[in-house]
Amino acid sequence: MMTNWINSLNYIDGCWLPAKSGDELESRNPADTRKLVATFPRSAPADVDAAVEAARRAYRTWRLVPAPARAEFIYRVGELLLQYKEELAQLMSQEMGKPIAEARGDVQEGVDCAFYYAGEGRRLFGQTTTSEMPNKFAMSVRMPIGVCALITPWNFPVAIPCWKALPALVCGNTIILKPAEDTPACATFLIEIFDKAGLPPGVVNLIHGVGAEVGKALVEHRGIDLVSFTGSSQVGAEVGAICGQTHKRVCLELGGKNAQIVMEDADLELALEGAIWGAFGTTGQRCTATSRLILHRDIKDKFTAMLLERTSKLRLGAGIELDTDIGPLVNSNQLKRVSNYLEIARSEGAEVLIGGEVAKDGELQHGYFFKPTILNNVSPQMRVAREEIFGPVVALIEVGEFEEAIAILNDTPYGLSSSVYTRDINRAFIAMRDIEAGITYINGPTIGAEVHLPFGGVKQTGNGHREAGSAALDVFTEWKSVYVDFSGRLQRAQIDNH
Ligand code: NAD
Repeated sequence: MMTNWINSLNYIDGCWLPAKSGDELESRNPADTRKLVATFPRSAPADVDAAVEAARRAYRTWRLVPAPARAEFIYRVGELLLQYKEELAQLMSQEMGKPIAEARGDVQEGVDCAFYYAGEGRRLFGQTTTSEMPNKFAMSVRMPIGVCALITPWNFPVAIPCWKALPALVCGNTIILKPAEDTPACATFLIEIFDKAGLPPGVVNLIHGVGAEVGKALVEHRGIDLVSFTGSSQVGAEVGAICGQTHKRVCLELGGKNAQIVMEDADLELALEGAIWGAFGTTGQRCTATSRLILHRDIKDKFTAMLLERTSKLRLGAGIELDTDIGPLVNSNQLKRVSNYLEIARSEGAEVLIGGEVAKDGELQHGYFFKPTILNNVSPQMRVAREEIFGPVVALIEVGEFEEAIAILNDTPYGLSSSVYTRDINRAFIAMRDIEAGITYINGPTIGAEVHLPFGGVKQTGNGHREAGSAALDVFTEWKSVYVDFSGRLQRAQIDNH
């Protein structure tokens, strides 16, 4: 089965193609780097030109296809994703390491997204409203934007491309997907599904390659109207700057430094379940991962002991093995990055309660495994309390008051997800009001977004846009206001009626 995916290709104008140069890169299994998962084209600006040309041509007709008819393709994508869910999840688990149950969840998010946006084909509501003048009709309608470049990370190789591609398409745009270098086979499988769904040539295109080469070429390209980017804050800043200079629409979904608050009145067992899932799910490589636990001093010792006990039982292993709790990090850079943050933590005076090192026992030595790690005595000023680590590392911060907990939670440059465990309804509502984040969970972990609600963050997590739900329609359409004057005479707004 895997051999089908060894040779991933670009998909341009409905054709599967290698890079014009013939250059290739490799994708390896992060749980065992001896295993090759796929080769894929190292595309160059000339390949980008071909994809943009195809997408521009297809846009001329796709925008005129009625939205309910466009939505039928989206619905078909959802059905095919369901049909291939297990095969795709197995591939994902082997290509980027997440445990198989989470990989199935990743594909399911794509399915949910498809069915949600297929329904949007019969909505895409605008407004009708009054006019200040007689015999005049006024309304607003959504217009597609054009050719959209979708640049995505490796941590949700199906869900994130679906969040972007499906609303973009139902709104009448054409797309070019540039997936992460670590998950080319997943992207190829996904685009194969779009191909099977029968979308016309050029409506969906796929360009593999290195971000700084083809990603950059796409962002700079004059034939691209909109860039939707999910990834690191550093690259996001570069993408945003280029889009500013070239007057492109741009949606940025960037990093996070999410916290879970546990107050003294919380259900500690429930908070523990949330903390383990939030901190160590997807090996901490979620933009919404819990990387800080802000603990009330009255329960801190007890909760820390509970946390240590549970963490010590987590099993590291390949994602496709059913008894694996935590998979590998995605690549050697991630392993270096997390190891480096442990050095920083130690040098700043944090105490490593458990983990804190690369796991090298037995078969684990062949992959990028890092032990689940808990850091104690972390103060809010330390780098490990402020910067995104993107690994299985959680920092414990002690507080005395609820207001202090909220202030510390807010004290980072990011604002994606947040969580509060309390049984006090007043505290819950204060948290909903005062937390600076795009997402707040009450008595739930920082991870668990559903596709019909807006997803994204405040401050440096993004640039004010939201993905998912009806909010994504605002990214992928422009508003047009339409006035129809049936009075048969010139009526001057703000003049003739005053
Ligand atoms: P990354 O920024 O390195 O790469 C993301 C994508 O950008 C990849 O496809 C890459 O090839 C491409 N890219 C790299 N350099 C580029 C350039 N100069 N121009 C254009 N494209 C370029 O991020 P990553 O390591 O793949 O992902 C991890 C990051 O993503 C974390 O910071 C995480 O928080 C963030 N993330 C955010 C969200 C969210 O919705 N807020 C979701 C998932 C991940």
